[in-house]
Amino acid sequence: MGMINNLRRGFAVTLRVMRRTVFGDGLLTTEYPKESRQKPERFHGRHVLNRHPDGIEKCIGCELCAGACPARCIYVRGADNPIDEPVSPGERYGFVYDINMLRCIFCGLCVEACPTEAITMTHLFEMSVTNRDDAIYTKNELLVNPEGIPNHMFTPEQDPMVNLDELKDADGWMRATAPSGRAAYEGIPGWSASAGIGLRPPERGQAGAEVEEDDDD
Ligand code: SF4
Ligand code: SF4
Repeated sequence: MGMINNLRRGFAVTLRVMRRTVFGDGLLTTEYPKESRQKPERFHGRHVLNRHPDGIEKCIGCELCAGACPARCIYVRGADNPIDEPVSPGERYGFVYDINMLRCIFCGLCVEACPTEAITMTHLFEMSVTNRDDAIYTKNELLVNPEGIPNHMFTPEQDPMVNLDELKDADGWMRATAPSGRAAYEGIPGWSASAGIGLRPPERGQAGAEVEEDDDD
C-alpha cells in the first residue's frame, strides 16, 4: 500500500510539472528558430571587437587576451599605428586577430583581461559551420562595423538561422572585475561608450541602487 501511495504521489508531481511547463506560465520551450528566448544579460555568446563612438578600433594589439585564454584559441598580432591615420588610440593596433571558435570554451577570460573593453561577448550563439576553416573567426568577422553592428560569417539570406536581432543586441555583459561588478558601483555604468551602443546602461537590478562606500579599497 505504501508503494502505491508513493507511486501516486510521484505521478501527481509529474503531472503538475508537465501542466506548468507545457501549458502554463512556466513554458520553457519556444518555436525556435522562428522565435527565440530572451538571453540572460551575461550570456556568453560569440565575441566581437568593438569600436569607439568615433569609429576608431578599441583593440591596441596588446595580446593580453591571448595570454589569458586557457584554450589558447586567440591569435593576435599588433602593428604600429600609421601616424597619419591611426587605427586605434595609442601606438599599436590589432593587425591580425583570430579566434578559433572550435577551441573556445566561452569562459570570458579574454574579456576580463582586455584593458580597453575591445573584446566582448554577444548574445549570438548560432555559429554552426560546415568546415573547420569557417570556425576560425578572423578580424573581418569579429570587428563590428562603423555603426557598431557585429559582422557575421553568414547573412540571413545565406543562413535563415541568423537572427539579426541577436546580432544587434551586441552586449549586455559586464566584466566581473569592472567597476560595475562591485557593490560600491551599483547603478553606475562601468563601460566606455561604444559605436552603435553608446554608454551601456547599468545591469538589470543595479539601476537606482544607492552607491555605498567600499571599505575594501
Ligand atoms: S572565451 Fe575563454 S576560451 Fe574563448 S577566447 Fe575568450 S578566453 Fe579563450
Ligand atoms: S582585444 Fe584587448 S586584450 Fe586583446 S589584444 Fe586587443 S586590446 Fe589587447
